[in-house]
Amino acid sequence: MLKRVDSDWLRDINRRRVLREVRKMGAVARVDIADATGLSPATVTVVANELIEHGLLEEARAETEGDQRRRGRPRVLLRLAPGALRVAGVKLAEHRISVIIVDFAGETVGEAETAVRTRAEPLDALINLIEENIRAAARQARVRPRDLAGIGIALPGYVDAMSGTAWWSPVLAEPEVHLTTLLERRFTCPVFADNDANIATLAELWFGVGQGVRNFAVVTVEHGVGMGMVLDGRIRRGARGLGAELGHMKVALDGAPCRCGQRGCLEAYVADYALLRRASSILPDVDLSDPARRREGLTALTALAHDGSNEANAIFREAAAMLGLGMANLVNIVDPGMIILSGTRFRNELLFSDIMAQTLRENSIPFGPPGPEIRTHVWGDLLWTRGAAALALEGLTDDTLFGLQTTRTGAALAGA
Ligand SMILES: [Zn+2]
Repeated sequence: MLKRVDSDWLRDINRRRVLREVRKMGAVARVDIADATGLSPATVTVVANELIEHGLLEEARAETEGDQRRRGRPRVLLRLAPGALRVAGVKLAEHRISVIIVDFAGETVGEAETAVRTRAEPLDALINLIEENIRAAARQARVRPRDLAGIGIALPGYVDAMSGTAWWSPVLAEPEVHLTTLLERRFTCPVFADNDANIATLAELWFGVGQGVRNFAVVTVEHGVGMGMVLDGRIRRGARGLGAELGHMKVALDGAPCRCGQRGCLEAYVADYALLRRASSILPDVDLSDPARRREGLTALTALAHDGSNEANAIFREAAAMLGLGMANLVNIVDPGMIILSGTRFRNELLFSDIMAQTLRENSIPFGPPGPEIRTHVWGDLLWTRGAAALALEGLTDDTLFGLQTTRTGAALAGA
């Protein structure tokens, strides 16, 4: 009996490895999957055929002439079957709810959004709005809501991805919200939730510059400083799901006050609110509690710096140095192969400057091979909704992926 369970387990692991490889490469020949995974060509053929039978993979002919000339006949490539299943990705921001529907190949097939001050909404009303947006996006994608295979939600704050509980979030009116449970009452599929920095990391791992990189960290700087970490190809969240909080790494003893109630945190020097707080003498009218006013304030501060204001430039220089120091601490502890500065604000070259790179270099352990490659990646809001969809795809159980698929008609999947 044990042997049978073991072989089922191994079979599912191999299926996931093959799927992951195809997702990474886009369209790939069986022999190249064998090379990349270390599985034997015979095993790859068996697994790939099962996945085709389950409707998760499909065959495509290589189209380039070079390919054909090299092999003498058209190569048959494997790719993900877009229609195999669809998931929803949801982003809760301070001023907006956005939803996309993504097919199995990762393409966006429907979207919806509502402008709303999320924190000002009572919890019930907010859950209603999320539900309405998911249904609207599904309508656009021509998918029945009960045919969705999963829903992933990205939100800022302290979120336990295991239980789907938001312990605290700036977009929720109350603490300890069991977000996934509340939404699972409205839909028939599983719902997953995670902190938006982890979600950005998943987006990089599945769709972005982190594809195929075994160890990397993603740093996002917005209203706060977020970080996600991939070690040995998997995202790491720590024992309580609160891990990788780079923003609350201490960079000064008894330093500047942070939103978390402590002092000397990195984000108290680097995040939007910290920059604007330092700028209060040159920009006296900014209301830090209003997201729209904060954005305006930051644009004004950036313009002042570009116009040569000494005070504005000093604020960015100090913040850049602090960010470099925080990243050096990260490098010295975790030793990532790559750091991706990711998100919507990374056009801000004042912060991600030579000063940041120099401080990082000067404070990193100076021995051994060179430190991590630093990449910047501008995504826009799509980052989080696509990452949330990746969270839902990642959370699909083997039963959903490999078990019910053969007999699936939406109803079988929905269990209704
Ligand atoms: Zn803090």
